[in-house]
Amino acid sequence: MKKISRRNFNNTLAKSITGVTLAANVPFACATTTKKKKLGIALVGLGRYSTYQLAPALQNAEHCYLAGIVTGTPEKEEIWASKYNIAKENIYNYENFDKIKNNDNIDVIYVVLPNSMHADFSIRAAKAGKHAICEKPMAINVEECDAIIAACNKNKVKLGIGYRLHSEPYTQEIKRFVKEKTFGNIRYITADAGYYSNTEPKQWRLDKKLSGGGALMNMGVYAIQSIIYGTGENPISVTAQEFSTRPEYFKDTDETITAQFEFKSGLVGTIMTSHNVSANRLHAKCDNGWYELDPASTYIPLAGRTSNGELNFKQESQQKLQMDDFAKHILFDTPNLVPGEMGKRDMIIVEAIYKSIAEGGKKQSLDFTANYGFGG
Ligand code: NAD
Repeated sequence: MKKISRRNFNNTLAKSITGVTLAANVPFACATTTKKKKLGIALVGLGRYSTYQLAPALQNAEHCYLAGIVTGTPEKEEIWASKYNIAKENIYNYENFDKIKNNDNIDVIYVVLPNSMHADFSIRAAKAGKHAICEKPMAINVEECDAIIAACNKNKVKLGIGYRLHSEPYTQEIKRFVKEKTFGNIRYITADAGYYSNTEPKQWRLDKKLSGGGALMNMGVYAIQSIIYGTGENPISVTAQEFSTRPEYFKDTDETITAQFEFKSGLVGTIMTSHNVSANRLHAKCDNGWYELDPASTYIPLAGRTSNGELNFKQESQQKLQMDDFAKHILFDTPNLVPGEMGKRDMIIVEAIYKSIAEGGKKQSLDFTANYGFGG
């Protein structure tokens, strides 16, 4: 006998209480007024992040559920189907993926593949008329980010980037400090994001074709995010340096990068990102005190303190909060906390950092005249 998933159990329970079929079973089309109670998400790419974070988080989400999977590994189909009670018609591979267009059980496609595959699958999701969440980094260059945004606009679907921290309370508290100037004007901000990699030299993250770059693409985007939401400003320039201490391991991608940013208000920021050192911190110095998160971007638990004392928030799955926020954006028109433009902004900065390094540390101007947002 097949196990009843939590979702199906909840649906069955609600059905028996109300005596009506839940709206979760009603097809949703973004152009129609018919709205579901819960949105069906299909995960594309069943690697570590999908397996250990996203799928478990979806079991407890309030506004979305794991409805389908897209995998290039046939053995995973049965394993996932029985573990999460996924119907056969909601299982796809990379070749027949585009047929998902005809599947009303799937509302949102979450792309959790190596970075160089994000654009292709996000665009195919949009063309299938499905809303898309694209993992970080949004793509491997700005051109691809533009193509994803254009495809989503053209097909009138919503786009979110997998920056889960915007739904997380410690991060939201830092944003509140910035907005309310709790510690006065910020003078200096620094953020580190890295880990020590030494056991898997053949992994896709160290293969530039698949990753687009090394530490900067993988962890550096967190540090970039930190100094922007930690100040509420987009930078106006960046200068960067690259360091390599284990070139035999990091043959194809960057190991450690430092970068310095200027902001219009006069404040200065620095980041360090690495695949050679474990680091995970945001620290801001202000006129009337300081605040910091350390760790600032791990899954759980984050921790934070200020010159006034410890921060202490309830710890919940960040992925659950993130996917629920995106589902609410679709269902109830709440703000999109992580729009595609934010992913593109970070890719503009990533490209400027690589350019600065290629030009021997030359300062690169950044011009964010459009509203790229700070994540609500
Ligand atoms: P992973 O290596 O564990 O999984 C990658 C998946 O892609 C696997 O299922 C693999 O089979 C599939 N795949 C398809 N084509 C492939 C190819 N040519 N080479 C290698 N794998 C291929 O990676 P992951 O940790 O799950 O990361 C996937 C994406 O999610 C990345 O973009 C990563 O940056 C992002 N991610 C985000 C977070 C976050 O906190 N937001 C955390 C981890 C990963």
